[in-house]
Amino acid sequence: MRLSKMHIKTLREVPNEAEISSHILLLRTGMIRKLVSGVYGFMPLGWRSVRKIEDIVRQEMDATGAQEIHMSAVQPAELWQESGRWFAYGPELWRLKDRNGRDFCLGPTHEEIFTDLVRNDVSSYRQLPMNLYQIQTKYRDEARPRFGLMRSREFIMKDAYSFDKDYAGLDESYKAMYNAYDRIFTRCGLTFRPVEADTGAIGGSNSHEFTALAEVGESEIAYCESCSMAATVERAQCTDAPAQDDTAMLPLEEVHTPGTKTIEEVADFLGLDKKQTIKALLFVTYDEETGKENGYVAAFIRGDRELNMIKLINALGIPEHTIEFADEEKMSAATGCVGGFTGPCGLHDCKIVVDSELPGLKNLCAGACKEDHHLINVNYGRDYEGDIVTDLKVLQEGDPCPVCGAPVKHARGIEVGQVFKLGTKYSDSMGAMYVDEHQKEQPIVMGCYGIGVTRTLAAVVEQHHDDNGIIWPMSVAPYHVIITLVKPDDQVQAQAAEKIYEALQKARVEVLLDDRKERPGVKFKDADLLGIPVRITVGKLAGEGKVEYKLRRDAEKQEITIDEAIARAVEIVEREK
Ligand code: ATP
Ligand code: MG
Repeated sequence: MRLSKMHIKTLREVPNEAEISSHILLLRTGMIRKLVSGVYGFMPLGWRSVRKIEDIVRQEMDATGAQEIHMSAVQPAELWQESGRWFAYGPELWRLKDRNGRDFCLGPTHEEIFTDLVRNDVSSYRQLPMNLYQIQTKYRDEARPRFGLMRSREFIMKDAYSFDKDYAGLDESYKAMYNAYDRIFTRCGLTFRPVEADTGAIGGSNSHEFTALAEVGESEIAYCESCSMAATVERAQCTDAPAQDDTAMLPLEEVHTPGTKTIEEVADFLGLDKKQTIKALLFVTYDEETGKENGYVAAFIRGDRELNMIKLINALGIPEHTIEFADEEKMSAATGCVGGFTGPCGLHDCKIVVDSELPGLKNLCAGACKEDHHLINVNYGRDYEGDIVTDLKVLQEGDPCPVCGAPVKHARGIEVGQVFKLGTKYSDSMGAMYVDEHQKEQPIVMGCYGIGVTRTLAAVVEQHHDDNGIIWPMSVAPYHVIITLVKPDDQVQAQAAEKIYEALQKARVEVLLDDRKERPGVKFKDADLLGIPVRITVGKLAGEGKVEYKLRRDAEKQEITIDEAIARAVEIVEREK
């Protein structure tokens, strides 16, 4: 492709809203174009890289025996009502009506559609196992679309669904997808970690996220260097502090603690360690269907801990969008809580959720549900009880690993893919059955597997760039080689460039010829910005049959003959593409 003919507009100035490198660079290179918040179009270079990622995904999925199909983005509400997700999915689900008032949504994911397909088409064990996938546009009306392709409202996803006779079959299918994901992200040039994950709105029992490591990532992961434990912080189990079985319970006492609304303040005031206090977090919940308030929740954890919201939501068994921090005044009238002085004793008409380590700890300090007062020597069982007692805490950096006890580390990353064992969640609710070898009806056992194709593109740029621009890995680069023709009007230079251009194309190298009538400085800057892996500069030395050869990722340049430059380019592209 000749750059002079290509539809490309690079930007010097980038809109303020672009905060992270991948977003800035994808805009600056003109690879993506914003239409409205969270909705982007792809220009020629950007679309080529998207297709490269899609091709890698397709090759690796096909290699596992999965079959590609393509379903519509428009989905009828009835299927979502059958699975129970029409309400559970919340405002992220992009809903619409047709001219007759019938409800539809734009698919954020396709479990219902694939389950419906398979319940109609599969009846016998002979048809199983099966894995169907698609590469398709998804819609999620995200609360905060940001970071360009990273969290957009329209994006391309590969979604695959496996259908097995039993759980042993699901284990096999899951492993095959897990391994395929490993190869896909490796081939895309990403540094990543598979980590255990929460199953969220998709449901099911077991899940891994593939996290591309990056400081700007929105996923926080906890991992252990002494064993193989790796999990999202949302998911990671915490080890409870050891129970103080030998400590005697002291008499409960109310103490005057004027103005000590925070854990720090009360601990300071009473000369306690934060570990000897109980922290309260207050929430209101809403009905899934009507959106009306339907109750209060108070969560209690040790004063030095952080509440893990996902664990709380899972404990309550409610969707994420149906809970939020309570208005303390309103809650006070209904439950007796007192802002800054709330403890588990004396609360009423409120669900009490207690972190699993609190029952083992003795003589703690908690709010007295009375202005300017706390209780000391609060003990579980004697002074308060929980409606639910479960692990509610965040596994912090340095906490003991739940598997081996060594201090855990934290890292940030971008979730580029996720695999789930769904089990029979959808086949039960939607009646996807098959007849087994003994003529008995059984539910089909399912798994589902997503890759954010466009988010992967952003993750690659996030991991592969410098101050001057993108540094594409060969496998997903929009072109392999750029020929920078310094003076297009110079006959010798132009002929040499054409010769290289033709030779590389013959060798099936994807090559860009920068034949624009621009200043050399502009061309060099653009070549760096675009990040094409190999640059061949045709300039003054062309008369001697020589060019400058440079890899975008290396600083050094070499002056070599035209033939050698061609040979080297072909060789590196073959090796790395
Ligand atoms: P997140 O936690 O980041 O919101 P998710 O867990 O809801 O993502 P999944 O339902 O697992 O996402 O979707 C599969 C894949 O689709 C994700 O791993 C991610 O790569 C991609 N993806 C999800 N939401 C978005 C989005 N808003 N923009 C771009 N890609 C997305
Ligand atoms: Mg996910």
